[in-house]
Amino acid sequence: MKSVAQEIIQIGKLIYDKGYNAGKDGNISVRLDNDHIMITASGALLGFLTIDDLIIVNNNGDPVDETTKKPSSEIILHTEIYKERPDINAVIHAHAPYSITLSMLDIDTEHHLYSTAAGPIPITETALPSCSDSWEKIQPFVKKRSKAILKRHGLVAWGKDLMTTFVKLEETEHFAKSLVHAFAVKKIEPISQEIQDKLFIIWGIK
Ligand SMILES: [Zn+2]
Repeated sequence: MKSVAQEIIQIGKLIYDKGYNAGKDGNISVRLDNDHIMITASGALLGFLTIDDLIIVNNNGDPVDETTKKPSSEIILHTEIYKERPDINAVIHAHAPYSITLSMLDIDTEHHLYSTAAGPIPITETALPSCSDSWEKIQPFVKKRSKAILKRHGLVAWGKDLMTTFVKLEETEHFAKSLVHAFAVKKIEPISQEIQDKLFIIWGIK
């Protein structure tokens, strides 16, 4: 059976190989137990993670072991999502290019749904990175949704385990890619409110 560290390393490589992130951007965390979170270090390359790039922190984001490395600068985003959602055990943040593009186009993503997996995808207000601002802007969506795009910044997904969370990230970026390509050709008419309401009932989304 894979260790949590091995899982994070594998998913980090997958995110990089798929083109969902670049360089030192992005961060991954997994909740280990009620008091501990494993998170990628600040400046770590998600595509080339080693065990030394993974830090165990407490619920306030403070490293529990002696280390010269710092946890990701988006640590607050991770720790606060875990506090808000006790059912969640993994968080991924990646600078996914199509999601970022989508957030800059002012497209109403709530009314362009095309599959259960993809929608709806909230887009936050523009937030300052590496401080509590990202958390404050995403907070309104954390209880009801499982992913959101930080405007002009990147994608955040949260789920019951790391693979589920990666799949949410992938589906969202895939949907964003479709929308960006479609809007590059012409303006796409949104789904009507009536149809959307029915879809939400079918999908069990409030
Ligand atoms: Zn970021």
